[in-house]
Amino acid sequence: MIFPFDNTFARLPVGFFASVLPSPVESPEFLQLNRKLAEELGLDLDRLASDEGLAILSGNAAAEGAEPLAMAYSGHQFGGFSPQLGDGRAILLGEVVGRDGRRDIQLKGAGPTPFSRRGDGRSALGPVLREYILSEAMAALGVPTTRALAAIATGEKVYRTGMEPGGVFTRVAQSHLRIGTFQWFAARQDEENLRILADYAIERHYPDARDSSNPYRTLLERVMERQADLVAHWMQFGFIHGVMNTDNMTISGETIDYGPCAFLDEYHPAKKFSSIDQHGRYAFGNQPTIAQWNLTRFAETLLPLLDEDADKAVSEAETALERFPDLHQTALQLRFTSKIGLGTDHAEHWPLVERLLAEMKTAEADFTLTFRHLTEALETGCDDPVTNQFPEEDGILSWLGDWRGKIGEEGKREALKRMKAANPVYIARNHRVEEVIQAGYQGNFAPFHLLNEVLQHPFDSEEKFQDFENAPQPDEVVEATFCGT
Ligand code: AMP
Ligand code: MG
Repeated sequence: MIFPFDNTFARLPVGFFASVLPSPVESPEFLQLNRKLAEELGLDLDRLASDEGLAILSGNAAAEGAEPLAMAYSGHQFGGFSPQLGDGRAILLGEVVGRDGRRDIQLKGAGPTPFSRRGDGRSALGPVLREYILSEAMAALGVPTTRALAAIATGEKVYRTGMEPGGVFTRVAQSHLRIGTFQWFAARQDEENLRILADYAIERHYPDARDSSNPYRTLLERVMERQADLVAHWMQFGFIHGVMNTDNMTISGETIDYGPCAFLDEYHPAKKFSSIDQHGRYAFGNQPTIAQWNLTRFAETLLPLLDEDADKAVSEAETALERFPDLHQTALQLRFTSKIGLGTDHAEHWPLVERLLAEMKTAEADFTLTFRHLTEALETGCDDPVTNQFPEEDGILSWLGDWRGKIGEEGKREALKRMKAANPVYIARNHRVEEVIQAGYQGNFAPFHLLNEVLQHPFDSEEKFQDFENAPQPDEVVEATFCGT
């Protein structure tokens, strides 16, 4: 067997999914196979990399032991509830138990499912390349995320804004359970399956919750804790998810759905790139608030399980949810004080972080470069690389003075170590990702492979990759990102 499948989701009752086979494609070709991940998953690498593996990952052949299915879910999209979503262009092949535990193996773009509505169940090549780059870049940054096992060109065309080459993406996740999965049963007032789902989620992701006095409340709390930390990770690296709908928020706490996402170039809390996010609901600085909003929707689905008494259930949920702002703020403070090299008294040092962010906002300073230049400034003692980013120097000079004072109290060597570990040199900048996609559409995948390589070691500066550190030139700036689904 290429995949030692051990499927549990397929054992859940009818109503959780629809069995469906991938649809074949004309002439598949590997664009990238993630050998390192395959190894971690305990897959038979030689066979996976062969025509046999290609046939499976493109949907042309059935994998031994697979039980392909499309998962049912609902979701709040931009605040409005859609009861009938589900995997419209994704097919779960099954689960494997690798070195780090159980993982879903899912094909994206492998043909229509009963949840496809009017969609073709396919994926254009651009979004496949984007998701591969972005999810692997996030993993290398240490951000919890779904992973990329393979990117495949199908040799077929799909119709989007015009005819585009098609692709299939293999996604690996701790699971594909989403807040929307719970909403599916809550919307149908199907308490029995809701409980089965909650028990399944506990078993799979939070087994310690089983022994607590109220396992469902503990489930809510654990998901909240993971999400509070996840969004703090995003903020640390200037990542904008772009489409934080409840169907795009996992129970495991992994980042999922790399659609119109983007990394900040210049810092502004109101920054958004997504072409479909007209009102900036999912703007950079709104992400913590939206996470809490989504978790509130999650808590609502759990109400019947939290307590038989409806009032008590609400108060259980409220008490749990009230902790979110503090949980997130604590995680955020830890991450941002590390970015400026301070390792203790995170709350006390937070105002210093806020002052820097205010200066960066006014100066429209590049988010990633500012923190890299600060690291450099600490190393060399020269502030020019920092001050050059700030047209009006007074504010930043006074900030630098105060910052150096604090660093002096804690010790420079430790501070430098912290800063190097918290501030990447390379991020998946939008103009680079765009370049990769444009080249890919011309049949040139060298930029895709190169960018992928650069982003594998985001914290280590390399002479030969120097171009990738830079912010876009004015004519390279990408103003909007598209899901292109
Ligand atoms: P997303 O924007 O990726 O979160 O998707 C929202 C919903 O639209 C999900 O139910 C998807 O499965 C579905 N969907 C998006 N693109 C397609 C497509 N090309 N064909 C079928 N369903 C799709
Ligand atoms: Mg989605």
